[in-house]
Amino acid sequence: MTLCAPRVKFDLGRLLVVTLTLLCTGLHVSKANDWGYWSENGPDNWPGLCTAGKKQSPIDIVTEDTVRFDLGALKFDRYDFAFSGMVINTGHSVQITLDGVPIHLSGGSLPSIYVLEQMHFHWSAEHTVDGFRHPLELHFVHYDVQYANFSVAAEHENGIVVVAVLFELSNEDNQDLAAILKATELVSQWVGKNMVHIRKKLIPYLLLPKDHTTYYRYQGSLTTPGCQESVMWFIMTEKLTVSETQVNVFKRVMSGDHALKSNYRPTQDLGDRKVYHRLEGYSGTSSFSSSIISNILSIVLVRLLQLSDDF
Ligand SMILES: [Zn+2]
Repeated sequence: MTLCAPRVKFDLGRLLVVTLTLLCTGLHVSKANDWGYWSENGPDNWPGLCTAGKKQSPIDIVTEDTVRFDLGALKFDRYDFAFSGMVINTGHSVQITLDGVPIHLSGGSLPSIYVLEQMHFHWSAEHTVDGFRHPLELHFVHYDVQYANFSVAAEHENGIVVVAVLFELSNEDNQDLAAILKATELVSQWVGKNMVHIRKKLIPYLLLPKDHTTYYRYQGSLTTPGCQESVMWFIMTEKLTVSETQVNVFKRVMSGDHALKSNYRPTQDLGDRKVYHRLEGYSGTSSFSSSIISNILSIVLVRLLQLSDDF
């Protein structure tokens, strides 16, 4: 779609003449229905890096092929605070933004500190484990504090960190999802128009598995267009649970005229990338280790990992 913006010109020499010229910029307006998860707008036809890239996400995690390596524990700063939040139906997902003080992620051999931008869900999960697809995946999306915002960070190497949490089916409802699902029901008809306040304050920590020290890590991309390859992925090893009734709330979310029955991108080739697995039980697993030596080691490690991915 071409954007035509009106330009008003004033001629003060004689009568005030107002001419209206249309400035056709040739810019493309991004709309919720520019891309999607089925038919001609589906993942096979996503443009640019989505098809040309070499470090795309999601992937299938072949546990046997993962490299056991201690990259250090992730430090979830202020994840245990209670936040008021909003839910929006973007037409591609259900997204949550939180108000108040910034929430930070560091540790895990990350080269910087990362700010939580938003959280959103994929149903079914995007990352598969040994070929198995879980019913739900939650993405905590962070960007490097040194950049002005998420969009700028996404254009830079290691600008984005996503922590992914997989959910397995249970007969019991997950009570920590209840307030989010209530808000989801309210926004499910309103594509991109309305946000709804989550009734209860949200504690992000409760949406992480209890064992948040073990994870898979690899270098990848955003899983939606433009698929920028600036993402460090952390997929938590331990899973949370969700009931089928709860997953069905997401499946009733509308995108335009259709229910968004699923919103996962198919898995992409791993290529010569490696998936690292940090297990529990390493010495020095404290989330609060911040000595100069461990920071220097982290920076060296992350550089080595990047090199090993490149070659
Ligand atoms: Zn996502």
